[in-house]
Order: sequence, then C-alpha cells, then structure tokens
Amino acid sequence: MTNAKCFEEARRYIAGGVNSPVRAFTAVGGEPFFVERGRKASLWDVEGTRYLDYVCSWGALILGHRPAPVMKAVKQALGRGITFGTPTPVETALARAVVEAFPAMDRVRFVNSGTEAVMSAVRVARAATGRTKVLKFDGAYHGHVDYLLSQAGSGMATLGIPSSRGVPELYARDTITIPFNDLPALERAIQAYREELACVLIEPLPANIGLLTPELGFLARLRMLTAQAKILLIFDEVITGFRVGYGGAQTVFKIEPDLTCLGKIIGGGFPIGAYGGRKALMDLVAPTGPVYQAGTLAGHPVAMAAGVATLQRLKRPSVYKTLNALGTTLADGLRQAARAAGVPLTVNQYGSLLTPFFTAGPVRWADEARRADVTRYARFFQALRRAGIYAPPSQFETWFLSTAHTRRDVARTLAAARAAFVEET
Ligand SMILES: *Cc1c(COP(=O)(O)O)cnc(C)c1O
Repeated sequence: MTNAKCFEEARRYIAGGVNSPVRAFTAVGGEPFFVERGRKASLWDVEGTRYLDYVCSWGALILGHRPAPVMKAVKQALGRGITFGTPTPVETALARAVVEAFPAMDRVRFVNSGTEAVMSAVRVARAATGRTKVLKFDGAYHGHVDYLLSQAGSGMATLGIPSSRGVPELYARDTITIPFNDLPALERAIQAYREELACVLIEPLPANIGLLTPELGFLARLRMLTAQAKILLIFDEVITGFRVGYGGAQTVFKIEPDLTCLGKIIGGGFPIGAYGGRKALMDLVAPTGPVYQAGTLAGHPVAMAAGVATLQRLKRPSVYKTLNALGTTLADGLRQAARAAGVPLTVNQYGSLLTPFFTAGPVRWADEARRADVTRYARFFQALRRAGIYAPPSQFETWFLSTAHTRRDVARTLAAARAAFVEET
C-alpha cells in the first residue's frame, strides 16, 4: 500500500479522509502519510519511511511511542477485561495521582476528551455563578464545543476559518474573545461584563496558534481581577498539564485557578479528558449535585491504567529538567540556524513546547502569529519531511518533544533545518 492509495481509499469512506482536520496536511500541501507503527521518537508510514516525530499524537505521547511501562500496564489491564461500566480501583489511582499533582484540585471527574472536559467545566462555572457569559482569548482552542468555536486556534487557525457554521448565533453571543497578553483589553472586558461572566477560560500557555507565552504578571493580574469580580478562572491545561511540569502550568506559574481541564498526557495515548477543582465546586456535579455530566466509557480502565503508568514515569526526578533542556537546545539551534541564513524566524519555546514562526516577530498574541509566512512554513515542513522529520503540518500547531527524543535527534533536526534555511535564501 502507498500513502496515496491509503488516502484515496480513506476519502471514499471517511469525511475528508481524516478523523480530525489538521491530519489532512491541507496547510502544508502534499498528501498525508499513513502510519503503520511507532517506536520511541519515530514513526513508520505504510511505505516503510521512518520519521522523527515532533507531533507525538498532538502532545499526548510525552513518553514517545510504545513506552515499556505503559505497554505493560495496558496489557495487564486488558487481561482483566476491556470495560465494565462500574467503578474500578484504577480510576481512583489516576484520580489520586492527578489530585496530588494539582493543589487546586480536590476532586476530579474523568471524561473521554478534552472537549468534554472544557464543556463540563464551563457548565459547572455557570451553575456555580448563575451567570452565562464566557471570556476567552483569540487563538485559543478549547475543543469543538459550539460556543467556543469563534476565533479559535488549532485546525480553525490552520484552515483560516473564523467561526464554525452550524453554531446558532445565540450560543456565540455568550462568548467574549479578547487578545492574549492584552491587559487593558482584559480589564475593560471584566469591567464591562462583570455581572454576566461565569468564567474566564484560558490556556495558560496558549499552544494552538503555535505557542504563545504569557508576559510577566498577566496571569497573576487575571487571577486577581477574576477573584475580585467572583468570576471563576478555568485553566485549560489539556496540553500543559504534566507537560511543562508535573503539576502543569499552574504549579510552574504559581497561580491557582478555580477549575482545571486536563486531557492528552493523562490518558497515556488513550482517549481521555478530566476536569476538577475545589470540593465545593465539584460537589455541584451529579450525583452529589444538580449539574449533569455522564459518560458510558468515562474512566475507561485501559486509559486509566495507561495514565497511571505515564504519571508514575513522569514523577521520576529530573524528567522535566532533561526534557525541557532538550526543548531549549532545539529552540536555540533553530534561532541560530535562521539567523545565519538570514531567514526571519521567531521561536517561541517553553520547556518541551515550541513553535518556529516565520516572521521577524515578536509573537505575543494571535494576530502576531497570523502574520507569520505560512507558505514559508509549508516549504520548511516539506524540507524536513524529505529529511525524515515530521514537524506539525501547520504553522499554527505546536511542536512536542518526548522523553524518547535524544540529543542526537535534535542535532539531526538542526542539520536538516540549516539545510532548509540555506535553500530558502
Ligand atoms: C486538544 C485540546 C483540547 C481538546 O481535546 P480533545 O481531546 O481533542 O477533545 C482542548 N483544549 C486544549 C488546550 C487542547 O489542546
């Protein structure tokens, strides 16, 4: 089978040939490759081509492909059965690990995706405050929740879609969007809507318009303003949870949100999401309280086992130190290579997350990210692909390193990047 044949066949049965839009490589041109298997930091497609993987299943695979402890835990879990629709001890094991890692979470609830986690957390915030409106940031992605699909990141940024059709205007009206890192806009919005806002929803390190980083004091000021107005602060840490540190961005930045959303890493590569917060807030959720939220396969024992094994591995000393140092090496190397070749490039990096934006920069909010030269990124993507390196297939998706990536992998990537930049000029 060739990749082309696979894609042709897929398009015959699957809408657009893919089960999530960015996978179609629309923004970078060419056809997607179809993966046969993965191991450590590598993927092999159906034609036998090997790629060094900087997507890592969109950040879920922080330990790389097929990490031994996760594979073992999954096999053991499968040996006991697939799903039972009853409580299982492994759900409590993962919940305990999450609650112990996040000081702002006394209780957690597992769902099947990050989308569900955000949707449910906002529902709790609306129930707790008796208010409706949600404030969010331009370029953030919080899953495909109806009322959060305006000026969103990820695939919507990639495809240049400002808002989704099929969302009633009535829903969109309750969402207010402002630029990230814009303190005056934040203060104005909170002042104007203080009686109506149930919550402010934020990715503390926005990673779905490429990577943005918060300017000094922005998150602290946001925490102060929301607390004063009794507006709940929801951190969407679906990417950053267990990514930038064991306790997520909130532990690194020392900011306690009211509610936290998790996903990706905590399922060890299986479908998952989670939301949690203080006991009083989470007691609002059924069966204890009046906020309904449920899931047939929620708390899936195999996903739970994979999550527990992943977090155990991440808890070992110096995991993040090593991982983050590798991110810094890659970012610095890309900057140097671009400078040497005279290519305007701004690399935003935080730990094992990074984005090389093809613009002289800076890139502090979504509009500055959108200024990047996407055609140039597409050429860079293709040059790396020819060198056996799989970068995210969009200027607006973040690169992810895993603990399986080595210094040699990074050195090889930098050599390929240097060659690509020289070719550009
Ligand atoms: C991936 C992502 C989501 C959605 O998670 P799904 O599991 O794809 O539904 C939500 N928020 C952020 C920040 C994400 O990166």
